[in-house]
Amino acid sequence: MANLSFEEMWEKIMACDSSYDGLFYTAVKTTKIYCRPSCRSRKPKKINVDFYETITEAIEAGFRACKRCQPDTGLSPQMELVTGVKSFLLMHYKKPLILQDIADHAGVSPFYLERQFKQATSDTPRTYLEKVRVDKAVHLLKHSSLTNLEICYEAGFQSTSNFYKVFRTMMNCSPNEYRRLR
Ligand SMILES: [Zn+2]
Repeated sequence: MANLSFEEMWEKIMACDSSYDGLFYTAVKTTKIYCRPSCRSRKPKKINVDFYETITEAIEAGFRACKRCQPDTGLSPQMELVTGVKSFLLMHYKKPLILQDIADHAGVSPFYLERQFKQATSDTPRTYLEKVRVDKAVHLLKHSSLTNLEICYEAGFQSTSNFYKVFRTMMNCSPNEYRRLR
């Protein structure tokens, strides 16, 4: 689903990470409620959680919208554009995307896209893509024994120097330090 494993989605909901809102939904089997990843309600047990890519699938499986995070409120045209682009970036993070490719996919100009994206998320499409890549790298550092070089390419970075630079900017440490500290 959307290039995210169960374990990765679980990590996002434990962190209440709003940057993945709209890309998947958490459904709790015991309460029959579904939520956004960023919902701040008490966390369910892992064993009781299912993930759905769309609201329709969650509803068809018998879940109701959470009253707290209200995942069923309609999206503004701006958020629809932004969520569509986030989903595109998550699907294609391994490719060397430039802003023009992303704007072409969304059917708008690069300038318009960047402005709308920034207004809605305070990220640009490029920094969001970097965040997705760093999240992938963090996950692999925690859960795999891949080398830094393998993780660099697995996470979609085009060069190790770029990987180290972006990783340090976001995580305030190097990949090696991150792995050692865990
Ligand atoms: Zn909720």
